[in-house]
Amino acid sequence: MTLQEYFRYALNHLNTAGLKNCSFEARSLICQVLKLSTEDFIIFRERPLEDKDIHKLNRALERRCKKEPLAKIVGIKEFWGLPFKVNEYTLDPRPDSETLVEAVLKSIKDKNDPLKILDLGTGSGCLILSLLHELKNAYALAIDICDRALAIALENARLLSLEKRCALKKSNWFDNICGTFDMIISNPPYIPEKQLEELGRELHYDPKLALTPGPTGLESYRAILKDMHNFMEPKTKVFFEMGWDQSHSISKIIEQQGFIVRAIHPDLANRPRVIEFNR
Ligand code: GLN
Repeated sequence: MTLQEYFRYALNHLNTAGLKNCSFEARSLICQVLKLSTEDFIIFRERPLEDKDIHKLNRALERRCKKEPLAKIVGIKEFWGLPFKVNEYTLDPRPDSETLVEAVLKSIKDKNDPLKILDLGTGSGCLILSLLHELKNAYALAIDICDRALAIALENARLLSLEKRCALKKSNWFDNICGTFDMIISNPPYIPEKQLEELGRELHYDPKLALTPGPTGLESYRAILKDMHNFMEPKTKVFFEMGWDQSHSISKIIEQQGFIVRAIHPDLANRPRVIEFNR
């Protein structure tokens, strides 16, 4: 069977399983499983596949047909143009979260400043490692409550040669942290518990702990904000990702704690996604 023949075979199966954009899906699956670029895919399309590759592809195809995200199947997700390892203990990095990286970068006058950044709930590390990749003299503390997520974040830091500038620590929000920071970022769990059921099947593969903090979806923001003053300098800037319909309620919590909302940054679909504030 050639690559092209397998492509048709996969396309059929994905179609039958009810997936959308099947030709994109089939090509991504083949390229990612066999580690081919889009160009390789075209150049090698007449090449016969080895049995072991067909076996690998079939296993991946079967999982994709059950709607498991491709990132979880191949263990890698691209974010900010960089490859991030992911597993069942980490939230798959989402394109909308690049809004936070962009907002932070936009707020910095000199990208060579030795900034000290705190990332709360780092997961795969995608946010903080993308920032450290851009800010060559910055250093960071990234915390998570989940040891296994921290292990993946460490692997990602090493793969990107950023481990010397990124300390990783287990902590429940501020519980194990001391000192102050120039910048604090977080993409905390924010989906109200009940909404989880309604949201697509692909969310079933993300850890519940990373998706929902409780019934209102606002619990993490409340928990983080109540202690945050102690870790801030007068000029510290804070950036939180949020659900597109939460900007009003989160602004209120932020203001109740005596902070001032400076900006709300829209995501790719032009919905409010990142809130920026300081003292
Ligand atoms: N900071 C990570 C991300 O943005 C993890 C977020 C989370 O698990 N809620 O992907």
